[in-house]
Amino acid sequence: MEIACLDLEGVLVPEIWIAFAEKTGIEELRKTTRDEPDYDVLMNYRLDILRREGLGLNEIQEVIATLKPLDGAVEFVDWLRERFQVVILSDTFYEFASPLMAQLGYPTLLCHRLESDDQGRVTNYRLRQANPKRQAIVAFKSIYYRTIAAGDSYNDTTMLAEADAGILFHAPQNVIEEFPQFPAVQSFAELKQEFIYASNRSLSL
Ligand SMILES: [Mg+2]
Repeated sequence: MEIACLDLEGVLVPEIWIAFAEKTGIEELRKTTRDEPDYDVLMNYRLDILRREGLGLNEIQEVIATLKPLDGAVEFVDWLRERFQVVILSDTFYEFASPLMAQLGYPTLLCHRLESDDQGRVTNYRLRQANPKRQAIVAFKSIYYRTIAAGDSYNDTTMLAEADAGILFHAPQNVIEEFPQFPAVQSFAELKQEFIYASNRSLSL
């Protein structure tokens, strides 16, 4: 049996902070790790804005509940779950992802947590561990599962490299060029083919 490991944002759902910025009209929330590489600085900046705007967990989840998975994502996850054990490995937070996970049928999700006070105000964030995507693959390998992983960005490449097969999906051109060792596809139909190919290749080994 194989475990299919999927990134979430950019693969199955929109970039959550960007979509949240668009829904709320708070332009400052569009800043990403590309603009601010220090994740601690970026998250504290975001939490300050949420506080200033009076957006707590309830308001955030209401806004995120209006977001939809990418076209074809729900059907793709259903297809994948018939053939593999599916685990989503994400750098998002459970509190953000839950409205979107409901629309995806709640596949297993390993990600981070936000902390809030009794008024629902976000007070802190807790990263699950360092290098969480790669470490999850290392863990699955330690119990003798093969892994096939797909993701769209830099924070996925150590996961793709550690997996038995890694696939770039919806990746920007610079990532595709920097990591030519991974097949790169843009549609769910092609992604299914890559999963089938990676799985068949393991059977013939
Ligand atoms: Mg992503």
